[in-house]
Amino acid sequence: MIIKPKVRGFICTNAHPVGCAQSVENQIQYIQAQDFTQDGPKNVLVIGCSTGYGLASRITAAFGYGANTLGVCFEKEPTERKTGTAGFYNTAAFHQKAQAKGLYAQSINGDAFSDEVKQACIDKIKQDMGKIDLVIYSLASPRRTDPDTGEVFKSTLKPVGQSYTTKTYDTDKDLVHEVTLEPANDDEIAQTVKVMGGEDWERWLFQLAKADVLSKGCKTTAYTYIGKELTWPIYGQATIGLAKEDLDRAANSIINNLKNISVQANVSSLKALVTQASSAIPVMPLYISLIYKVMKEEGSHQGCIEQIAGLFNERLFTENPPTDEMNRYRMDTVETNDATQAKIKALWDQIDQNNFHELSDYAGYHKDFLNLFGFDIQGVDYEADVDPMVKWT
Ligand code: NAD
Repeated sequence: MIIKPKVRGFICTNAHPVGCAQSVENQIQYIQAQDFTQDGPKNVLVIGCSTGYGLASRITAAFGYGANTLGVCFEKEPTERKTGTAGFYNTAAFHQKAQAKGLYAQSINGDAFSDEVKQACIDKIKQDMGKIDLVIYSLASPRRTDPDTGEVFKSTLKPVGQSYTTKTYDTDKDLVHEVTLEPANDDEIAQTVKVMGGEDWERWLFQLAKADVLSKGCKTTAYTYIGKELTWPIYGQATIGLAKEDLDRAANSIINNLKNISVQANVSSLKALVTQASSAIPVMPLYISLIYKVMKEEGSHQGCIEQIAGLFNERLFTENPPTDEMNRYRMDTVETNDATQAKIKALWDQIDQNNFHELSDYAGYHKDFLNLFGFDIQGVDYEADVDPMVKWT
């Protein structure tokens, strides 16, 4: 099969297995070129392991610290006629490369919100790994089925309190235009907290602890985006931001409830980047195209792997790491510092249909978007016939 990108709106409906493998390899090479001097994790569980920040975390744990990893993701397998999802191919490539290095690498493809998948992980940990010393929680999902009631909750991306009018960029129509987002009602807010809040993170940690598969002093972190004034109305102070605030509650609950094994739980705030999750958020393609422009000019641009390498090296596995007032690790200050934000704001105010491509780095955004699905990656022959039927080892 010759595989070319099929982009529909903010999603690409296919993926390139060789390109995905090359993208995983590029991240491994970056990690292998870094110094990870501190003692790190040995047995890691990554929930949301197949793309974006979760995949970068898994690669850092395995190739930075030599850790065994168990991953959980929700990905589609390929068929003879349709490619698998990027996360499926990324996971296949990760398994193959980690196992070639003698590291344990297995994944469970299923709904992480379910108790069945939690139990399947516990069984695998007991059978193959012993005890876990790091749990990364990196899920991004539009819905969650409550395992107790079977009720399905859906998250919404809406402002809270009042409607909000802002600029946005329509990647399909190549159009900068104004959009008015209506505020969420109470039910939409509550449902978003159910999906993207801390309840499931807690449930994971409590079930792992009950099954006695967490080591003493086990660390866990869940990822958040806090952002600044430009994104607060649609993210930080919107439905998704309220859900993310619930992670702070969950971190305290995990610490307090698992004192007997001294679990250390912190929320980590990361910078905005092109991932499958963020490209679905209104305003984000425009905002990220501008931060790419500014941060590349500053020399401060980072992708998922650079952010996560820093998180492990400078926060998770170092003595007395700095935290903010909510005990969070802040890796996002490269983006949220006042000087960088002022430059982004100055561009934001000027942006219109005529100058968008000149003032922003949409080209960089779009390349990163294609890269997520294994396309437009240097060194990959996209005219070659490839077999989509990749298997996990
Ligand atoms: P992503 O879409 O790249 O990854 C999501 C992962 O979750 C994938 O591995 C997917 O398979 C898995 N997943 C989704 N639903 C699942 C389910 N029901 N069961 C099992 N696995 C499931 O997303 P991302 O952008 O890397 O986001 C990861 C975390 O990082 C999120 O909490 C997000 O809010 C946070 N974050 C993202 C950004 C950003 O700009 N992308 C910035 C800061 C923080």
